[in-house]
Amino acid sequence: MIILDGKATAKKIRAKVAEQVSGLLAEGMRAPGLAVILVGDDPASQVYVANKERACKEAGFISETFRLAASTSQAELEALILKLNARSDIDGILLQLPLPRGLDSDYLLALISPEKDVDGFHPVNMGRLALGLPGLRPCTPAGVIELLKEYDLKTVGKHAVVVGRSNIVGKPLAMLLAGPGDFGNATVTVCHSKTPDLSAVTRQADFIFLAIGRPRLLGPEMVRPGTVIIDVGINRTEQGLCGDADFEALCKIASAMTPAPGGVGPMTIAMLLSNTFQAYQTRN
Ligand code: NAD
Repeated sequence: MIILDGKATAKKIRAKVAEQVSGLLAEGMRAPGLAVILVGDDPASQVYVANKERACKEAGFISETFRLAASTSQAELEALILKLNARSDIDGILLQLPLPRGLDSDYLLALISPEKDVDGFHPVNMGRLALGLPGLRPCTPAGVIELLKEYDLKTVGKHAVVVGRSNIVGKPLAMLLAGPGDFGNATVTVCHSKTPDLSAVTRQADFIFLAIGRPRLLGPEMVRPGTVIIDVGINRTEQGLCGDADFEALCKIASAMTPAPGGVGPMTIAMLLSNTFQAYQTRN
């Protein structure tokens, strides 16, 4: 079985972005700028934001993080987003989710200028994805596709089963897999919490993509030999972090699989850098 190494692949992507940035700086151009807004003190979000800051710095970006109290009002956030939309040195704006209760994330995400929406969650960018038009793609699904590319795991004509239909992972991933290209053109089935017999579907898959948030839900009895398994899940258990797949048990059955952690997670950050660079280029 091939272990799909997201860490190594992400490193390559980050190095390529850093090289492009140093080229720009050598020509006397400004560095790409990313603004991250973190509201409240959710511990997981704090870790994610610190990782994003570090990655930006390594790539030669300018990163500005706004750490705001959980009591920040909707109006204050609205004003900050509008100010960042207007700033010419900021190419990407990332509103770290989840937001504390009482703040309307859908409303606030839609205020971000679509060309600075490096998370790809703005209705315009999601609409562009659905229509097959160019735009900023959500980082995690885009990272999954990049990982398939790295290992040349073509999905054309294959049965791709996506488990989970969230706006940030499952839904956009299903659209990418059904889209054009060697790493699209799949026959896509989307499963979710109301799918009555998940095993019956996953057993027919050539590729299984898991974005559920249930520790080791996918077991060996649910998979036929040779399947490619991409595990987006990150679950905190008493034994530490694990994915949505039973990695140990599936190792003997899958033809290729991502570890979790160390698979899709690092790809998400790499794609954030790549999206910020894309936004920079579009704006220059
Ligand atoms: P979510 O909670 O928004 O969505 C979960 C989805 O799983 C829902 O669509 C639901 O219908 C489906 N589901 C729940 N129970 C199910 C079951 N028993 N059978 C079939 N489907 C079921 O989650 P999300 O935001 O998409 O995240 C999913 C997982 O991916 C989480 O573990 C999260 O931490 C992880 N994640 C990882 C990254 C990364 O960078 N690697 C990024 C985003 C999310």
